Amino acid sequence: MSNLFHKSMYARKDVPSYWEETVQPRSDLGKPLEGDAACDVAIIGGGYTGLSAAMNLAKDSNMKVAVLESGPMGWGASGRNGGFNCLPATKMSTKQMIKKYGEDETKKFWARQLDGVAYTAELEASEGIDYDRQGDGNLEVAHRPQEFDGLHDYAATLKKFGIDSKVMTKQEFAEVGYDSEEQFGALHMKAGFALNPLKFALGLAQAAEKYGATLYPYSHVDNWTKEGATHVLRTAKGALRAKKVLIATNGFYQDGLQKTMDKRILPVISNIITTRPLTDDELAAHNWQVEEPICNTRNLLFYFRKLKDNRLMLGARGDWTGRPDDAERMKQWMAERVYEVFPHWRGVEISHYWRGFVCMSMKLAPSMGYDRDDPSIYYSYGYHANGVNTAPWAGKMMAEIIAGKTTADEAIPVVMRGHTPRFPFASLRVWYLRAAAAWYKWNDD
Ligand SMILES: Cc1cc2nc3c(=O)[nH]c(=O)nc-3n(C[C@H](O)[C@H](O)[C@H](O)COP(=O)(O)OP(=O)(O)OC[C@H]3O[C@@H](n4cnc5c(N)ncnc54)[C@H](O)[C@@H]3O)c2cc1C
Repeated sequence: MSNLFHKSMYARKDVPSYWEETVQPRSDLGKPLEGDAACDVAIIGGGYTGLSAAMNLAKDSNMKVAVLESGPMGWGASGRNGGFNCLPATKMSTKQMIKKYGEDETKKFWARQLDGVAYTAELEASEGIDYDRQGDGNLEVAHRPQEFDGLHDYAATLKKFGIDSKVMTKQEFAEVGYDSEEQFGALHMKAGFALNPLKFALGLAQAAEKYGATLYPYSHVDNWTKEGATHVLRTAKGALRAKKVLIATNGFYQDGLQKTMDKRILPVISNIITTRPLTDDELAAHNWQVEEPICNTRNLLFYFRKLKDNRLMLGARGDWTGRPDDAERMKQWMAERVYEVFPHWRGVEISHYWRGFVCMSMKLAPSMGYDRDDPSIYYSYGYHANGVNTAPWAGKMMAEIIAGKTTADEAIPVVMRGHTPRFPFASLRVWYLRAAAAWYKWNDD
């Protein structure tokens, strides 16, 4: 299997995230695969997509299901993201989407995105997952004065797709939200909220196990063959035979495992830092009052929120190599950004730094479906940094398709249906990204 980034990005070592400190060690969630085993549906990847698919299949079908995960359950992006339950999972503008897919399909895409937000919310109660819900809605903040008018345009777009929102001027938001060097008005979208992503992932894993799915953590699939109609997935210590396989590896997929997936994804590093808990006086200095997750209007956006214990969490794009020395540089750069944007917090200690892959693609939207050459292979990936709402919903849809309760044509809007095209000159993927980032940076400054 080949890596697009430094090998340390794929080493299934402990993730030094803040979230890891908020949960119990997960040694009770499954055991590594050893020896031979068999199931009806094997799922590769123990994040929201894989765990939701496993949970729904185990709960609502008579199929025997198993999840193979390289690290502990929730090791990938699902256990270390920013916890924004937000939308939409696309890098296409609405105009572009309508031009390519038409008005009806664009509406269906947005409707399913809202279903995703609602499904993530529903799981808290239906599966008793205590994921530290925070805030009501999502905020978008203009990072410079000329972005403010765009918030009104965005409000009009949201209205078209059935989402209420409210635009506030800099002064209005300074009174009810926060004030800072990069706050020039805000839009409050009445959809979504924030959550603890690792608690959510582990809650899904526990629910999947409760309904009868078998979890195999520390079971990296490094070889995939077929014997007749049976798929054979091999790990270091065992082999799992399955009638059907769901690929749920998102940005952590490594080319070479399965040809239907090769050359299709562009993993992009996203970084997160958290400060130490801020005091009441420090929060008051920026008049901070909001619990909602916040994105700003930069193309290379900053996303941030106040955590339950009053830390600031800030996320931003990463470097292009994944090397450990570049990580150190990113951490310093992000700390500087916190101090610039929130000058009253200059010098506040950064308590945690971590990173992971989000998954982009040529299609600029998620890809869900099954392999046309081998319909026993299913996939769902490419959430464009919006997996908290999309991946659990996608896992549920894939479970229904795999169980034969619905079809891909019925369940998946055209925008998300089928594979994204392969990248031409795929080994240059990261260079395409560099070029795009340089363009965006030029536009942001
Ligand atoms: C830093 C960061 C911040 C983010 N913030 C947000 C946010 O605030 N809101 C939001 O909506 N989205 C966010 N995202 C994106 C979101 O986390 C993902 O879209 C979502 O978690 C994808 O879920 P998944 O289950 O498809 O993939 P993942 O959770 O990445 O799971 C894939 C799993 O597949 C496993 N795997 C890969 N290859 C193999 C193999 N050969 N054998 C066995 N296992 C394998 C990996 O180990 C991994 O655990 C963020 C992502 C990152 C990295």
